[in-house]
Amino acid sequence: MEKAKIKTDNDLIGYIKEVGESNFKKCFQCGTCSAVCPLSTEDRPFPRKEMIWTGWGLKEKLASDLDPWLCYYCGECSKNCPRKAEPGELMMSLRRFLISAYDWTGISKILYKFKYAEYIAILIVALGVLIEWAAVFGLYPAAGASLGQAVSPDKIDYFFDWPITVFLGVMLTSFIYNMFRKTVLSGGGVKIPLKVYFTEAWSLVFNFFTQYRYSKCDDSEETASKKLASGKYNFWLTHLLLMISYVVLFAGIVFFLGWFQAENSLPYLHIILFDYFASIGLMFGTVYFMIKRLTKKIERSKFSHHTDWMFVILLFLTGLSGIILRASIVYHFAVSTIFYIYLIHLMILFPMLVIEVPFSKWSHLAYRPVAIYFANLKEKAKSLNLGNSENAEIRN
Ligand code: SF4
Ligand code: SF4
Repeated sequence: MEKAKIKTDNDLIGYIKEVGESNFKKCFQCGTCSAVCPLSTEDRPFPRKEMIWTGWGLKEKLASDLDPWLCYYCGECSKNCPRKAEPGELMMSLRRFLISAYDWTGISKILYKFKYAEYIAILIVALGVLIEWAAVFGLYPAAGASLGQAVSPDKIDYFFDWPITVFLGVMLTSFIYNMFRKTVLSGGGVKIPLKVYFTEAWSLVFNFFTQYRYSKCDDSEETASKKLASGKYNFWLTHLLLMISYVVLFAGIVFFLGWFQAENSLPYLHIILFDYFASIGLMFGTVYFMIKRLTKKIERSKFSHHTDWMFVILLFLTGLSGIILRASIVYHFAVSTIFYIYLIHLMILFPMLVIEVPFSKWSHLAYRPVAIYFANLKEKAKSLNLGNSENAEIRN
């Protein structure tokens, strides 16, 4: 039988160093990191194997690895590593590498590697919004126009909201297909029966809307209520709040924009209130994560890549400008003032959507539950192939 050749790639080592701060070269493979990791299992002992694969430059093996997505950066591995090799940070860097590997356009790779590329990309998208706005609504509202006439919600939907929704859908779907090719189809893996795709689909929805694995970062014996009271769930719950707020607001602006522009919001109060709470959630979540990143008190916030900062800042500014816009409508500011506040809001919102969602930090919200789903598919198929389905280890 012909022996499979190991393919190494020295560029990978350079890239991982550029997109994170792990000292993976210091690792001497003691295995402590995998032993203390609350999320690692016997079958998939991360992050130790990723440390060695990275050191060897095994790019293809890493590109087909789902385990970096199963790590939630709780930091136990880094805290206990005797060599200070920062394995948790390596898993973070590998997630950046994987985002670039799934992205066939090559944009993610550039954004992660070059700080200024992200600033330039944001500026280009903001400028594009300005040009499109000028073409659709002009550079100032007509005298005496109402807000609905100056900034027609139908035109916002037609020229801004729906094109961006289609763009994001197409991009993310194609990247996730690429991920599927690399992690599930490649490498002569087990054949997955069609019905397993359906029977395991619950884990995709469940993990997207609960981010349940975050809660397992603390594997102490304490009861859930004690963990809640002592703040051990704070990071998980704030992350969840941020994600749900984001999804609610996105759905709000795409499907109910006219209601947001209505000066009398009483007929739509139920949905408007829902979105007010989501705006508060967005502001609270972004401020919480900015403070954590500034104070660096917990392991997972010790290192911040420029893309981490840009994401949280853009999200904060999007929330803030959205609140100012809504307040300017409710408190009857002059139409010309609202017109420009609206434009500024879109010039912040669109770079956040176009750059962050498919190509940068936001995408991990999509890849994580998908990776858990793919890992479940593989586990389940493996156990079925072995005729041993009752022993299948399903991840949550
Ligand atoms: S604990 Fe540190 S030195 Fe030991 S295997 Fe993990 S990364 Fe390497
Ligand atoms: S950061 Fe936490 S979840 Fe990730 S590998 Fe280390 S110990 Fe495991």
